[in-house]
Amino acid sequence: MILKCLQCFSHFLIDSNDLSPEGRRVKCGKCGHVWFVEPKPLISSKKEEITSLHPENTPIVSGSNLPVLVSASDVNKANSLWLLVVLLTILIGFLLWIGKESIIRIWPFSNYFYSILYSILGY
Ligand SMILES: [Zn+2]
Repeated sequence: MILKCLQCFSHFLIDSNDLSPEGRRVKCGKCGHVWFVEPKPLISSKKEEITSLHPENTPIVSGSNLPVLVSASDVNKANSLWLLVVLLTILIGFLLWIGKESIIRIWPFSNYFYSILYSILGY
């Protein structure tokens, strides 16, 4: 705990355990001023507003290195998005496989891509 002399404004570092729960008189070692110091309360007696940590993303102070709290609904949204991407990829792959002959007829150069794809897949 840091004490500040009210007379000469010198600062002193003291062990807060040296203060009794009722406080005590202290004397400035520099100017001799004596004053009474009350210990800091361990728990604030002020009624503080308690905010819920629940679900909404909690904004963090800029420059803070604390992680943002992500709500469960955002995790579900992200998982749904991944599932959609995977399903679309499968669908597109299926359509390219089914429509191979038509695609090559319309765009002959695509046969080159199919041959590369088949060599990768081992056909
Ligand atoms: Zn002083």
